[in-house]
Amino acid sequence: MSGDDWTTPGAYEVAPGVFRLPLPLPSDGLRAVNIYAIIDAGRLVCIDSGWAIPDARAALDAALGSLGASVADIDRFLVTHAHRDHYTMAVSLRSTEAVAISLGAGERPTLEMITDQDQGALEGQIETLRRFGAAHLIEAVRSVMTRDHAAQRAQWALPDEWLYEGDIELESGRRLGVIETPGHTRGHVVFRDAANSLLFAGDHVLPTITPSIGFEPVTPDNPLGAFLGSLARVRALPDALLLPAHGPVAPSVHARIDELVDHHGRRLEQTLAALDEGATSVFEVAGRLRWTRRERTLAELDVFNEMLAISETAAHLRLLATRGQVARLLDDGVYRYRPLP
Ligand SMILES: [Zn+2]
Repeated sequence: MSGDDWTTPGAYEVAPGVFRLPLPLPSDGLRAVNIYAIIDAGRLVCIDSGWAIPDARAALDAALGSLGASVADIDRFLVTHAHRDHYTMAVSLRSTEAVAISLGAGERPTLEMITDQDQGALEGQIETLRRFGAAHLIEAVRSVMTRDHAAQRAQWALPDEWLYEGDIELESGRRLGVIETPGHTRGHVVFRDAANSLLFAGDHVLPTITPSIGFEPVTPDNPLGAFLGSLARVRALPDALLLPAHGPVAPSVHARIDELVDHHGRRLEQTLAALDEGATSVFEVAGRLRWTRRERTLAELDVFNEMLAISETAAHLRLLATRGQVARLLDDGVYRYRPLP
């Protein structure tokens, strides 16, 4: 559909009038983010926007140029969630172009925290590492996060519009259903073009990786439970072409959701097995699991990814507690888990 490497810059038509534009990212982990440009009554509506870095802006200009267009043709950004690789390019373009930005209303606490001057919520997020039995990470994470926080804040601003579950009708009459899919972030939304069997999935359903769960400035109560619930909601809709934010276009949303559900099922079993083997804290459980497609140990990850792994483990334990499969108690400031019969 778009050559061998999905990250190769360009404008790839994935459905009539819908183009996939891969834009580069600064870190090599995810490599690129797909935004989707929809031709709408001679103008453009974009799903997601990219990370506001010069390389991504150059790739966006070139891709739009190949369509005979430019950023001046974009009326609107519909953004799936408040992560910088999806949101910040829209904010940057809004300073010079007449574009409107829409974002799921569930992202509001996160946006307000990020744009807030004080770092209280960030501090709270870092402090939860103590309860996870990973107090030794706090100093390193704080130095990474507070540096990023200050640099990032300048790239953020509130959207023009908060989105709720419902339908958006574009100028051309194309309808996009807004579906709230909390999990990867608490306010994540996907956009469904039912008439053309397309799902603009953001990071909710990714074809080759599993989205991170449970790492957010404003932590939801049961993020994995929310994520699995969101997968079930989307799985109950008719199947569609999967248009992901990272990775190649895939033929079936349903098939990939089934794989993701299986993955988390196995992960929950491994989490229980780690408790059976004697791990009691989130950190100890995370240390017994393998991470990334390369099956790394926790100790092999950098500080940021170690923190993501710990958040992810906490989300699995939280779900098991909700299901009555593990008990949790707070012991000297650290959560201790044990399997229930
Ligand atoms: Zn992303």
